[in-house]
Amino acid sequence: MNIVKLGKGRDSSLLRHHPWIFSGAVAAVEGTPGVGDTVTIADSSGKALGVAAWSPASQIRARMWSFDPGTVIDADFIRERLRRAIARRDGLLSATRTACRLVYAEADGFPGLIVDRYGDYLSCQFLSSGAEFWRDTIIAALAELSPCLGIYERSDVAVRKHEGLEQRQGLVHGQEPPQWVQIQEQDRLFMVSIQQGHKTGYYLDQFDNRSLVQQLSAGKTVLNCFSYTGGFGIAALKGGATHVTNVDSSAPALELAGQNLELNGFDADQAELVQANVFEYLRELKASNTSYDLIVLDPPKFAETKHQFKKAARAYKDIALQAAQLLSAGGTLVSFSCSGAIDPALFQKITADALLDAGREGRITHYLHQAEDHPVALPFPEALYLKGLVCVLD
Ligand code: SAH
Repeated sequence: MNIVKLGKGRDSSLLRHHPWIFSGAVAAVEGTPGVGDTVTIADSSGKALGVAAWSPASQIRARMWSFDPGTVIDADFIRERLRRAIARRDGLLSATRTACRLVYAEADGFPGLIVDRYGDYLSCQFLSSGAEFWRDTIIAALAELSPCLGIYERSDVAVRKHEGLEQRQGLVHGQEPPQWVQIQEQDRLFMVSIQQGHKTGYYLDQFDNRSLVQQLSAGKTVLNCFSYTGGFGIAALKGGATHVTNVDSSAPALELAGQNLELNGFDADQAELVQANVFEYLRELKASNTSYDLIVLDPPKFAETKHQFKKAARAYKDIALQAAQLLSAGGTLVSFSCSGAIDPALFQKITADALLDAGREGRITHYLHQAEDHPVALPFPEALYLKGLVCVLD
């Protein structure tokens, strides 16, 4: 049996059911656990506290499977965890919502595993040694529990390096997904590239926020910054926006955004696609005295780690400041941050500073976050990464 003994006083977060054990908390290892093996976690007196997956290469040395040390981690356990995760989303998928996250890592008691459904296909990522260890079992169980035409793996992500794992991508079950898989979110249709899109293909976490932007857009001119495949732009047009400008630096993302506009019945008169760096483009718009009624800012993660938060804070402030200067009287700023290192209070402060420097006053009408299929386990607040503010300016 492999036993990982924690240092004296190093069990407090575990006792609160936080699922990560950092290398500094480990005092001794009995046995020779391999990558992803199940280990028993014990406190400094030797009392067993639970079972975890061993990640010898990572600073996060073990991730908890269970806080009951008697739990057996086997194929039945894995299958049951997946069954429960999928059952939690039972009410979400319907004829008019054909995509959602099925498994969200720690929130579903499955550290390191992401599974998303896009229509008839599943797209998954194995991000930790524990998830990797049970990969074949997981794939077989998913195929049975969430029937699909194919399961595609998108473990082509840099974080696997921290676990000593190679990046990997490819079909793991059934049929290869077509180049574009069509999904529906309420009355919005999208083509998703499972093989080449960002993350597992698409930003499912913004589902509710797209619906909100749809409600807020009637009769408005909209600037959708960091548009990716046009999600917020389509939502705005469906909600009656008079014109949408989508801006992104990625040509393939904009190409798919163009297809998505067509798929939803919109034409070039209603929506523009601009390939540009948002930081520069906002300044060009200001120089040309252009204004908008609603601006969405949904940038990539500016802070990958806590150390980058100052630089990230400056970038979030810069785009919010530029955007605020472009908004018409009564205009709406919808601004997001998906950096876990920027907490909601700091994001609000950054936004307030930006508006102040822009010489604009406004009020927050909505506090936004990731959609309900990306829940946050109570003992693991780090999982709240997406936050957003809707600010209506004077
Ligand atoms: N709002 C999108 C997701 C945005 S993801 C949705 O709801 O689906 C962030 C996007 O920002 C990516 O498409 C990336 O290509 C783009 N991007 C990153 N840096 C950029 C920059 N400096 N200027 C313009 N686009 C950028």
